[in-house]
Amino acid sequence: MTQPGSQDEIIIKGIAASPGVVHGPAFVYQRNELEIPHYKLEETEIEAEFERFEQAMLETRAEITAVRNKVASNLGEGEARIFDAHLMVLEDSALIEEVTTEVRESRFNIEHCYNEVVQRYMAFFSSMEDDYLKERVTDIQDVSRRLLHNLIGLQNTDLGHMERNSIVVSTDLTPSDTANLDRHKFLGFITDTGGQTSHSVIMARSLQIPAVVSLHDATHKIRTGDMILVDGYDGIVVIHPTEERLFQFGKLASERQKLDALYRTSLDLPSESLDGTKLPLMSNIEGMDEFAQVDQVCADGVGLFRTEGLFLRHHGYPTEEQQFEEYDAVASSAMGRPVIFRTLDIGGDKIIDGPNQVADSSFMGFRAIRFCLETPDIFMVQLRAILRSSTHGNVKVMFPMISGLDELRRAKAMLEQAKTELKKEGKPFDDTMQVGAMIEIPSAALTIDLLAKEVDFLSLGTNDLIQYLMAVDRLNDRVAHLYEPAHPAVLRTLKQIFDQAHSAGVPVGVCGEIAGDPLFVSLLLGMGADSLSMASALLPELKYFLRKLHLKRAQGLVEAVLKLEDPNEVKARLQHFHEQVLGPVAVIAG
Ligand code: PEP
Ligand code: MG
Repeated sequence: MTQPGSQDEIIIKGIAASPGVVHGPAFVYQRNELEIPHYKLEETEIEAEFERFEQAMLETRAEITAVRNKVASNLGEGEARIFDAHLMVLEDSALIEEVTTEVRESRFNIEHCYNEVVQRYMAFFSSMEDDYLKERVTDIQDVSRRLLHNLIGLQNTDLGHMERNSIVVSTDLTPSDTANLDRHKFLGFITDTGGQTSHSVIMARSLQIPAVVSLHDATHKIRTGDMILVDGYDGIVVIHPTEERLFQFGKLASERQKLDALYRTSLDLPSESLDGTKLPLMSNIEGMDEFAQVDQVCADGVGLFRTEGLFLRHHGYPTEEQQFEEYDAVASSAMGRPVIFRTLDIGGDKIIDGPNQVADSSFMGFRAIRFCLETPDIFMVQLRAILRSSTHGNVKVMFPMISGLDELRRAKAMLEQAKTELKKEGKPFDDTMQVGAMIEIPSAALTIDLLAKEVDFLSLGTNDLIQYLMAVDRLNDRVAHLYEPAHPAVLRTLKQIFDQAHSAGVPVGVCGEIAGDPLFVSLLLGMGADSLSMASALLPELKYFLRKLHLKRAQGLVEAVLKLEDPNEVKARLQHFHEQVLGPVAVIAG
């Protein structure tokens, strides 16, 4: 670790992804492929090679056991069982025997021989018909990767090995990486790639962990142990910050803290504008463990429960009982406030580990409802679990990535089928549970009149809607600057969605990231949003602001902004309006 000022300060600029300022040692996380050394041994070197192998086995055993114990205490014994399977793979005597024979016969080094043998095993298991046996491929892959790491003597870059209070520096972070992070161990994270709406960022926001993304080459400039300062408000990272810089940011952080305290003063007051227009402010969550925050910020409900969080943490497809347990806990804890469960939205940047996974990583590919409709066994399990949880609260369900009527009807038909099954089995559920569709694909946005006739509510997923409208991949840092919520195309589309849904008498909530952006709240209220759902951490500021806002003025703002041609003009107008509403506080908030 370096002392402030002992090395040259370097400032890099990225995209502000999750607010807050932190200072701490970097942990550079690389998910690089291993390079396996390949060389001939002398006869006399063979025994030493086996000793290395044994030593690496011991280290790997200790690592797997440590992860197993951590998962067991954080997530439960059921989730930890996968690591028992890993230990069995590690100590499989047939595999070890084959490796040692290969070393003796070929006289190649142990890493090479071990890798050759496990590749043969993986090829064999992949060719099996049986799904259970196929799944063993991932176990072998995980275990062999760990063992090879230990054999080659690389620094272990597992996120689990990170020092407490570190800042994660990575080229990217997948939602599975973030799901596996010990939330109490890291202070913040920064990535080379990504945009404001990548899912690891969304998760950081809900965990209230400062993050900066799209830094391009942070992983080249920063080494593990370097002291870095992350400003998640303005998207700045300072490597080896000077004392003056730390002081300056310390002041900024304490001003922000004062502001946060001010925002919290209106938390238990109603979510309404100055003239009494109600606008429920709800939380986006991914699991029951985030529910405490929902209560802390007095949210009016859960506007988006991203059910895939449960699947990612589980590393597979949880059973109906496991899902029911989670959904039911959330529904009951909400004490009558609405909870909107969004059915499984995997694919894109949310990929479930294992060969069983069939959703693909393209944002325009086989994901979300497309995946669920083609894998009815998986979908039916989830629909049954959601339905069963509806007896204990105000539960609603919505389908992601609906592109048109046909998908909506097919999803609803499956919901009906799940109801019929539950009825036959005598299992209770709320037959009147409301059903909604997410509007996040332009084809859905253009057919609101058709979709609205068949749902109880709509929810605007602006993260995806904007990426598709503007053809800007949510994760690609090279085009992240083109991702523009203030673009006239986006504003016109939103306005038209609200107008058409309201003519059909259907309420529209917003659950994409703009719902938590203080600059957009006036616009969304003015356009007629019926609720906003956001990361819980953002809710206090939104409520404080909403309560100072006048509906008529917000409507005037919409009219004015819709006439503007340039997104920068739009943002300047929104900023100006925000400052006027906020008054003197805006000087610090800005
Ligand atoms: C959205 O697309 O706006 C949304 C809320 O869904 P997700 O971010 O999970 O894709
Ligand atoms: Mg989406």
